[in-house]
Amino acid sequence: MRSRSLRPPHETLPFDIYLSTVDALYSDARSLLAGSIGAPIAALITYWKSGDGTLLACAVALILIGTARAFDMRNYARQPRPGTLAQARRWETRYIVGSAAYVAVLGLWCFLAFAHTTDPVVQLISLSAVLAYLIGIAGRNFSNDRLVVIQTVCAAVPMIAGLLVQNDIYYTFLALLFVPFYLSIRFISARLRGILFDAVMATHDVRLLAERFDTALNNMPHGLCMFDAQRRFVVSNSHFTTLLGLPVGPDRAGQPVATLLDECLRAGRLPAAMAADIAERFTAALAVTRRETFALETVDGRALELTFEPMAQGGCVVLVEDATERRSAEAKIEHMARFDALTGLPNRTSFTQQFERLLQGVQATGRAARGVLFVDLDDFKKVNDTLGHSCGDALLAEAAQRLRRVVREGDLVARFGGDEFVVLQAMWGGRDEAANLADRIIEAIGTVFEIDGHQIVIGASVGIAVAPQDGTDVEQLLKSADMALYRAKADGRGVWRFFERGMDVKAQARRALELDMREALARNEFQLHYQPILDLRTGRTVVCEALLRWSHPQRGMVSPAEFIPVAEEMGLIVDLGRWVLRQACIECTQWPDDVGVAVNLSPIQFRRTNVEALVRDALTVSSLAASRLELEITETVLLQDTPTTRTALRQLRNMGVRVALDDFGTGYSSLSYLQAFPLNKIKIDRSFVIGIDADPRAMKLFQGVARLSAGLGMTVVVEGVETQQQLAMVHTEKTVTEGQGYLFSRPVNSTAIRAFLETERAAARVA
Ligand code: C2E
Ligand code: CA
Ligand code: CA
Repeated sequence: MRSRSLRPPHETLPFDIYLSTVDALYSDARSLLAGSIGAPIAALITYWKSGDGTLLACAVALILIGTARAFDMRNYARQPRPGTLAQARRWETRYIVGSAAYVAVLGLWCFLAFAHTTDPVVQLISLSAVLAYLIGIAGRNFSNDRLVVIQTVCAAVPMIAGLLVQNDIYYTFLALLFVPFYLSIRFISARLRGILFDAVMATHDVRLLAERFDTALNNMPHGLCMFDAQRRFVVSNSHFTTLLGLPVGPDRAGQPVATLLDECLRAGRLPAAMAADIAERFTAALAVTRRETFALETVDGRALELTFEPMAQGGCVVLVEDATERRSAEAKIEHMARFDALTGLPNRTSFTQQFERLLQGVQATGRAARGVLFVDLDDFKKVNDTLGHSCGDALLAEAAQRLRRVVREGDLVARFGGDEFVVLQAMWGGRDEAANLADRIIEAIGTVFEIDGHQIVIGASVGIAVAPQDGTDVEQLLKSADMALYRAKADGRGVWRFFERGMDVKAQARRALELDMREALARNEFQLHYQPILDLRTGRTVVCEALLRWSHPQRGMVSPAEFIPVAEEMGLIVDLGRWVLRQACIECTQWPDDVGVAVNLSPIQFRRTNVEALVRDALTVSSLAASRLELEITETVLLQDTPTTRTALRQLRNMGVRVALDDFGTGYSSLSYLQAFPLNKIKIDRSFVIGIDADPRAMKLFQGVARLSAGLGMTVVVEGVETQQQLAMVHTEKTVTEGQGYLFSRPVNSTAIRAFLETERAAARVA
């Protein structure tokens, strides 16, 4: 039992309970009325009997105080219940003051009966009246300790004083006997209060717990319903009723499962056709002793997931989850993992899985062959670089559409990433069928694309592998198709190639080349050769082009045409290019002051490095004047027209370095495009020189290109002059002022170029 008597109740009790104790004080009007009428009557009798005026005064005082208290009680009843602690305490104090005053007058009356009279009847009446009132205190006011103590003291003190003033041993003894009686009144009330408050607190706690439980239940995301061991309904939350479309309101406690299921079906959210099935599964799940789950579909297409969780004392909790969103999210993720977002085509993973399944089928039935067509878009990178990624994306999506259109039913198109697509073809009619499909693909992709107002022409190369000849598993077949594609690309793009046996040998050779190159730089196997470029009017060398050579211990001299593309793909060109630039600048310092050096730069270097810093570094290391350095770039560099490229070219120009456009005429730059860049020189490609001495049409073409170049206001150089006749023809075209070719000198090593330049100077001195 908890003792709450030491501190005032408003401090130890929750407000609502404290308030009900105040309520209790004002509630028992009847017993109060009985006392208020009984006591004054008794007091009047004692006056009538003794004739003592003070006793009459007591009777009058009791009537007055009793009436005042009755009014106070009425007031309390009439006005709204106290809403704050302060209000409640005010009412409590009023009650205490009123009752204390009343009891004090009672005690006084008793005192006077002993002090003023000797009439035993008068004394007995007053004493019994006060005792009776005191006993009533314990029963009426036990909930308020302060009240009990104040009332007891107010009554007991004058009463004992009245007995003591008799100055009689027996009266004194009686007075002493009353002390434990008073104490017991307090103990009894304390005990009663303890019992009451414990009970009240327990109910309060239980109510609180129930409220919390209710809140928790109704705020959980799942529907919940509990059954007892006899499969009768115990409780459910609001979600449960909404999820199953049950009417809110009816108390289902004690309902058997079957009745509840009936109600669910009647509510119309569950498909009536499935009624028997649902009932069976539900009761079966309730019966098992481990966790059980099953799914239901509602009439409006939502997915409900029911989990049955058995409880320790028998009975079961059923959780109902609306899994619609979760399921559709799962389906979306699953789709994203298997399909390419841009084109909606299956991705590599999904393709591989489907292909594997099909191959197993082929092995089992031994019937149809399968064609694997590896499709790669030609020049797609250029589109991305020049027109931007969103345009590139649109192009890929359109290309995917076209691929879908050209395949037959049962074929599978997938995107492997970038501009790589793979088609899996069901081949019933032999290799021709694959070749036909490849033709259709090349034609479809080769048709002009209209994107964002741009007319874009790209092409496609296709590599074909056939199962089972070219491989029996997916990986092998894809590899074969990839090798065939590689060949198609090498053979000039826009074509298809079947896989052939020798191809893997070539691929291996290329891998070996890659490995070798990684080490070649460290082993100092690279060197530079130099080829002079002459001023055609004076016949003197103005600049020498540095050309990379790789002398491999086993391979011998490897051509740059062979290894530069590999170095570019590997990214090795960055380190290699840095070395070339430094080396060429250093070499140039050994030449006569009026001879410069030309260095080829790869587009990759522009993309991957800061070319300005690269050039600055080479010039610093070699102390070469910037005006003696010439950089040869190709149209690809200009095509990747990014702010970085432009800035780099401008910075080079500001440094005093010259820039030449290499291989002019082989690409397809528009002239207006070229004009936008700060270039100094144009080198007409070797292919324009071939045949100019014999074929007038070739000469016309050559003239056209030369004049076009000169029209752009740049120095025009012609590459690949091999014979005197060619030179004679070139001479007739006055716009061309510089020439390069085997006729003047092949590319030679540094010792030889120094000797060449020395001879040239010596001849000039003689002349
Ligand atoms: P390119 O820049 O057009 O260099 C000129 C190529 O034409 C050189 O081939 C040169 O030997 C060759 N050539 C010069 N005169 C004649 C001639 O009269 N007749 C014929 N048939 N050919 C002639 P090379 O040295 O094999 O270089 C091939 C290509 O490799 C170069 O073409 C250039 O694109 C690239 N390359 C060479 N060195 C480097 C380098 O250091 N860096 C980069 N990025 N590329 C380089
Ligand atoms: Ca060049
Ligand atoms: Ca060239």
